Amino acid sequence: MDLIPPKTWNEITLISSFLADNFHNGRATDLLAICEDEELQVCLDDYDTYFDGMLVWDTSRFFIHLNIARGNIPVTNRGRFSLAHEIGHYFIDAHRLGIRSGKLPAHPSYSFLIHSDQMEREADFFAASLLMPAEKLRRLTGGRKFSLDIIKEVSTEFKVSLTAAAIRFAEVGTHGIMLVFSEGGVVKWIKRSSDFLKLRIKCEIGSAVPTTSVVGESFLKRNAKYTSVEKLDLEDWFYQGEWPVRWQLYEQCFYSDVYNYVISIVWFK
Ligand SMILES: [Zn+2]
Repeated sequence: MDLIPPKTWNEITLISSFLADNFHNGRATDLLAICEDEELQVCLDDYDTYFDGMLVWDTSRFFIHLNIARGNIPVTNRGRFSLAHEIGHYFIDAHRLGIRSGKLPAHPSYSFLIHSDQMEREADFFAASLLMPAEKLRRLTGGRKFSLDIIKEVSTEFKVSLTAAAIRFAEVGTHGIMLVFSEGGVVKWIKRSSDFLKLRIKCEIGSAVPTTSVVGESFLKRNAKYTSVEKLDLEDWFYQGEWPVRWQLYEQCFYSDVYNYVISIVWFK
């Protein structure tokens, strides 16, 4: 999110919040109503493993193709994120004009957690903003005790995957959290809220998760699944900083509903 140029960031935030305010069922953004309003036809088909979604210009109009072979129908959480991502390519000026003029070749989009490609990052940010507008999310979760239950509620209310809900909560939520994505005990990705304590973590991308963390223990004890909220010592995850930290550290793990990751949510209170 911080890697998106300010002008594009503003454009995405303005358009997505306008759309989310005008097209919704309860808290969930009505993506198909947006497509209908724009006369954007959504085509569902089996494209094997080729992509999740793709925005195509066919000389007179745009189409969005969704790959049902990868679970992308507009009523599933995964399909909603893919559709919102393609709607992003359509609404972000530079993407739409580029695809329409042929300067940007029609590109197949994959749902990934980590996109290094700028265009994909922007469309993902658009999708997260469209599906979970910051203000609506903060109104739902503000003033409440944090745990995975809050992320589950965001997922249910906004009809998004738990993983997408956790990532968005880390970006704009009402409690500072750190998310550590691991696979087979190896860290794949770390995301911290901007207001999470700036402590040095005892692992990095590609290294093992700390053995004293909940996810570390569950990996060592093979198949032991800890899913409840656990109290930890600061040093289970971090090196002591310059100043003593008086807050209690918590960790709760869940299993990604979109990828094969174990996701540790770490927070202080
Ligand atoms: Zn894309």
